[in-house]
Amino acid sequence: MLMLPGDFQPAILPPAEGEQPALWFVCVAGDLLVRATATGIELPVASSWPFAKWPTLRRLYLGSWQGQPCYAAEAEQGQLPPGWSLQGLRSLWGSLDEALLGIAGQALQLLEWDRNHQFCGRCGMPTQRRAEERARHCAGCGLMVYPRLSPVVMMRIVRDGQILLARAPRFAPGMYSVLAGFVEAGETLEQAIHREVAEEVGIRVGNLRYFASQSWPFPHSLMIAFAADYADGEIRVDGQEIVDAGWFTPDRLPGLPNPMSMAWRLIQDFVVNSGAAGGDGALR
Ligand SMILES: [Zn+2]
Repeated sequence: MLMLPGDFQPAILPPAEGEQPALWFVCVAGDLLVRATATGIELPVASSWPFAKWPTLRRLYLGSWQGQPCYAAEAEQGQLPPGWSLQGLRSLWGSLDEALLGIAGQALQLLEWDRNHQFCGRCGMPTQRRAEERARHCAGCGLMVYPRLSPVVMMRIVRDGQILLARAPRFAPGMYSVLAGFVEAGETLEQAIHREVAEEVGIRVGNLRYFASQSWPFPHSLMIAFAADYADGEIRVDGQEIVDAGWFTPDRLPGLPNPMSMAWRLIQDFVVNSGAAGGDGALR
């Protein structure tokens, strides 16, 4: 589950320089700087920027975790410090500590937001960071820009013990997932679900139940998952966003998404509650 750890304390202003060792979430082109050691995957720890010869493009204080200051830094592309490598967050799932992975997700999103709003989108003047809140401000016209989140609804549809799974053209070969789509301006979450289901597979659903939510920093989504029951209609894929879809029993599932994803949790919950997979019923 990708989320900020419960004992993370967000903050805008950093503590006095060099007071205690800080965790550095160093990003280059959306990947995280890590080092593999005998005990696992590590992040840089240092009271100030640890790579004197490596310029940063921006640094943001994130807050503290278990009393340790946490910084996000975007570094220039180029030669990496010896022993360190860049990894995508998805590939670090299961190897990097889950709390650190959650903070890294926030670091990536905030760096991207900071980079993308150096200039005011309304009048074109440079913007400045606010000290009081996570925002950038335009002194020219007064516009305030906050970190952007894009809500995505995700829905697990079940009909007579079978789950609807679908393929988008960008998926890896053989992989299927639950339906999902961005919430549009003016919509409720429920309206977005009904519209997406109708557009993508041409059926209707009912009995929507909230399931869970999860941050998805690729680049700034909030996944909001629901369970739903099939109501009526026959599957008819749109051929654009969805190229194939079908009903699957829990013992005959196709390739599934990354276990870090909300989609995987929705599908796992279906399998466990169907009790049809034998043993504990959980996916592996
Ligand atoms: Zn402006």
